[in-house]
Parts: sequence; C-alpha cells; structure tokens
Amino acid sequence: MQIDTRSLANNFLTPSIGTYAINLLFLFLILSLSTSIFAKEPIFIEESVNGLSIKDSIMVWHDPSDQKSLEHVIEVFQAGGFEQFDSPGSTGFIKGAIWSHFTLQNVTTDKVELALEYVDHQLISLEAFSTEQSADLNFTSIANLSLLDSFNEREYPHIRFVFSTTLQPGQTQEFLVKYSSQGSGYVFPALRIWTPSNLQKMQNLESIGLSFLFGGLFLMFVFAFVVGLITRRKLYFVYSIYALAKIVAWATIFGYTHKYVLSTNFHWSYISISGAFTIFCGLVFTRMFLETRKYTPWLDKFLLFMIANAVLLFVAALLHIKALAILSITVALLLYPVAFIAGIRRWSQGSKEALVYAVAWSFLATGLVSQALRDLGYVEHNFVNYYWPPLASYTEMIVIIVAIGIKVLTLRQQKIVAEKQYRDELEKSKIKLEVLVGERTIELQQQKLKAEIEAQTDSLTGTKNRRSFFSESQKFIADCKSQSLEFSLMMFDIDHFKSINDTFGHACGDEALKMFCKIVKARIRETDIFARLGGEEFSLLMVGSREQALQMAERLRKDVGSIEIETSKGTLTLTTSVGLSHMNAENSIDELMHQADAALYMAKHKGRNQVVEA
Ligand code: GH3
Ligand code: MG
Ligand code: MG
Repeated sequence: MQIDTRSLANNFLTPSIGTYAINLLFLFLILSLSTSIFAKEPIFIEESVNGLSIKDSIMVWHDPSDQKSLEHVIEVFQAGGFEQFDSPGSTGFIKGAIWSHFTLQNVTTDKVELALEYVDHQLISLEAFSTEQSADLNFTSIANLSLLDSFNEREYPHIRFVFSTTLQPGQTQEFLVKYSSQGSGYVFPALRIWTPSNLQKMQNLESIGLSFLFGGLFLMFVFAFVVGLITRRKLYFVYSIYALAKIVAWATIFGYTHKYVLSTNFHWSYISISGAFTIFCGLVFTRMFLETRKYTPWLDKFLLFMIANAVLLFVAALLHIKALAILSITVALLLYPVAFIAGIRRWSQGSKEALVYAVAWSFLATGLVSQALRDLGYVEHNFVNYYWPPLASYTEMIVIIVAIGIKVLTLRQQKIVAEKQYRDELEKSKIKLEVLVGERTIELQQQKLKAEIEAQTDSLTGTKNRRSFFSESQKFIADCKSQSLEFSLMMFDIDHFKSINDTFGHACGDEALKMFCKIVKARIRETDIFARLGGEEFSLLMVGSREQALQMAERLRKDVGSIEIETSKGTLTLTTSVGLSHMNAENSIDELMHQADAALYMAKHKGRNQVVEA
C-alpha cells in the first residue's frame, strides 16, 4: 500500500498563524466591499486527489430553524445570501443548520470518481445536493447521512460522513451541503476530497494508528487490573476502569462503536454518556491519587464541582438535552487544568509522584483544551488538534502508570521506614521492660524476704517468734542428735510482770521486754535458738552439757536481775523464773517443753527469781 504522505501533510497540517491572519485581512477587505456578489472560483479536480481541503473555497448560509427547504435555500443562494465562511474552522456553538456551497471542476480528460469526507465526527446529519453542470440550479440529492441511521446503510463504511460523486471529463458541478446538529452544536463546514482508493488508504492508516491507541489502552487496563488483584490496591482498579472508560469513550467518539457495536441503534447521546463516565473516572482517580480531600481541600471542592458537572453531562445525555450536554462537556474540557494545578500543589507539598501526575494531566489538558478551542471555533480544525486529544489522553495514561509506580514505591519505602522505627521502638521498650521487670523482681524478692523475716520475728523485741521457734527447733534437735551433741531447753517467765505494767505503765513494760531480750541475746551463741513464746514468756534452746546449761541459766537470771530502767515513776527492775529441761534420746520438743514448763511452774511456786531443773 503506497501512501502519499507529502500530500497528506499538505492537506492536514495547519497553515501558520501568519497565513491565517493574512487570509482574514483579505476576507475582511472583500466582505467589506460586498459579501455576496462574488461566487467562489471552482475547485479544480486533478488526477488522484488526496484529501484536498475545500474549506477555503466555500460559501455558507446559516439556517437557525434547520427547517428550510432546498428550494428556499436555492433562492437564498441566488439572492446572494451565502457568505464567505468567516472562521478558522468551527461555526462555534450554534443552533440549527449550516448550508455550504462550492463548485468542483474536473480538469482532467478522464472521468473521476470522488469521495467527499466531512472532517469531524460530531455532526448529527449531512445532506448533499449537486447539479449536473455549472450555473444550473437544478440541485438533486446525492447523499443523506445521519448518525442515527444504521451504519450498514452508508455508501462508505467510514467512521466519518462520506458521500460520492462522479465528474465526467471537463464537467463542472455545483454542490449544496447541509450540516445539521439537530438542535445546537458545533459545525465545521469543511470537506476533504479524495479518490476512493486514496480515501481507503487514509482510512487504513488511521485505523492502524487508532488500533495502537486502543490496544495500548487495553493493555493498560489489563495490566492495572492484574496489578490491582495482586497488590489489592484500590488505586489500580480505579485506574483500570478509567482505562476501560477511555477505550469506550474514544471508540464511541471516533465512530467505531457505531460501526462495529451499535450499527443500527446508535445515538449521539452515547458519545456524551461515555465521555461523561470517562471524565468522572478521571476525576475520581485524581482525587484518590492526589489525596486532595486531605491535603488540598480548596482544590478538592473544584474537583467535586467537576465531578458534579460530569454527572450533569451524563444526565443531560440520558435525557437527550443536547445543548446542556454540549455546554457541560465544554465546561468539563475547559476546567481540566484544575487537576494539573492540584498535582502541582501536591508536589509543592512534597509529593514526588504528584509532579509526574501533573505532567500526565498537562498532556491531557492540552489535548482537551485544544479540542475545546477547536470546537468553539478559535482555532482551525486540523490533523494535529483532531488527533491530539486521544493521543494526549493515551500519553496521560502511560505517564499516570509511572506516577502510580512512584507512589507505590514511595509508600513501600515509607512502610519500610515505619516498620524499622516500629521495630527499634519495640526493641527499646523491650529493654526498658526487661530493666523494669528486673527491678521489680528484686523489689519483690526483697519484700518477700522482709515478709518472711517478719513472719518469723517478734515485732516488739526483734527476737524469733513462737512459730519460728518451733520450726527451727526441729532442725536444731535433728542436727544435735545427728552430731550427738547435748542440748537443753530453758523456759523464762518474767516475774510479776502484770504489776510492772500496772506500776510503770505498758510502754515501760515493753521497754523492759526489749531490755530482757537484749540481755539474753548478749549472752547466748549464734547457734542457740532464743524466741518469745508470747507475753513475758521466752524460751532458749542451747547446745551444751547439763552443767553448762545450768550455769547459763543462772547467769541469765542474774543478768536479768541486774536490769535497771529509769522511768518517771522510779527505777524499774526485773526478775525472771527459769524452767530447765535436758535432752534425752527419746524426747521430742513437745516433751522437753512440757518438762521445762513444769520446772518453770515449780520455780514460780518456790518463790520466783530462781532456776529449777526438770
Ligand atoms: P507471775 O509472776 O506469776 O508470772 O505474774 P505475772 O504478773 O508476770 O503473770 P501474768 O501471767 O498474770 O501476767 C502477765 C502479764 O504480762 C499480763 C500482761 O498484761 C503482760 N503482758 C503480756 N504481753 C505484754 C506486752 O507485750 N507488753 C506489756 N507491757 N505487757 C505484756
Ligand atoms: Mg506468764
Ligand atoms: Mg510472769
């Protein structure tokens, strides 16, 4: 397949702004003389026409009612009602229909078949009429195309409106073409002229280009969906839906949905509906990706407004309110830079991926704004601004994938840092806890020891208590027996202690008890067991012979007798009676106690302050 790219470029690429300005000036001069007396020069058809633009060779007339008959339009034309089309491309947003007039002249010696292609996809219907020859105003219908008609009925299965005509060698034909938005809309009263084979080549080329676009978008959809499944990140799913919505929207805008999916039941509103859904997805994704609600609440309100506008577009399309739908979509396109601003704002707040995102949206925004400017008639309809929006939209998707990648990486790094901090903190607190537990354990051990000591000690005198005496005496006796040591038990009872209390007071009695213990402890050995059995009664287990025990008992009795405590009521003195029992191979501690107790009783009975042996 051979394609004449030079000719393509000539026909599609824009003339410079300078050329355009000169054209306008020229037109202005002509129009200021008279707007209608000049019929346009015919367009010369040579061999192999390849996308010849006839935009600059046509005269137009606006029928706001969209109801005028062909006869009426011919009358208007005859009366010079048609004017030079005074716009870079689009009529802008207008009501009704635009009629155009132009003349074609076959300057070759062969018969030529021609295909005339409408330049845009947004028109609802196109009707074409032609004459058999020049200046013959006998126009007959040669085409009646509508978006609402079945695609299969089209003479050319082309995604844009195409009609054909045949020019005999040297023949000149006049054409009237009616472009209707059925209501309101944008009209580009421009056609491109091709030989059928050249049109076919161009169509193939376009299909290949757009297949790459759709294929790429589909890959992105699948990729994001699978990654979403693996990572369980909502962002990927929203992105994949966004990609899918784009496929549907661009396929619908470019006429592929009409051609392949809904050939018999197509409606213009499907373009708006799919567009609305795509805009909606893009904005939902933006809010989620940039976290605008959290970080830029003010811009978030704008984005919410844009989402509301997308919903309005959706509803307008559903209700077939065309003017509202077009207004809403134009507002949407013009507001797209807000998402870019949000990206930049988030970048300034330190979000790296937001910058990449802003770049992505700047692609899209330039595409969509250029589309809006083109539709509104501020710039020419050309190859660049016709394909730039889908290409920008495609580029946006690729760059967003990069932005998502950066975001996910950043999040992962943040997670790793957070985990490390968490582990460090955990380690620190573990050490702290260990120290704390250690301290607490020592404290508890000390308390336990203290409690144990307290449980074995008499609180007043600090000597062993009754319980401790009995538990320790077992071991004492067992040890003595195993080592064949002799031992004795002494029982002490302070004499007339009740009257001491009565005379000197209870506190002095306590003092006397302490002093008694101090005196005894000073005499005895470490190995001896001395304890307070209760009240003013004490006992002592000591290692030693009978004589040694007796001597010790006498010594202790005398020592106690020498105690003198100065009180406010005079000098307090003490005496004690002592009962003494000695070891015997068969004796238990209970028996020894019993014997010593009996001896003590005897000592009391005999007059106190004496030692009695059992
Ligand atoms: P006896 O010579 O027959 O042993 O006469 P006593 O008065 O010593 O004997 P009794 O058993 O009648 O009296 C013991 C007294 O010891 C009664 C009680 O008030 C006193 N007493 C017991 N424990 C304490 C104490 O911890 N502190 C003081 N101050 N007095 C105590
Ligand atoms: Mg007593
Ligand atoms: Mg007593």
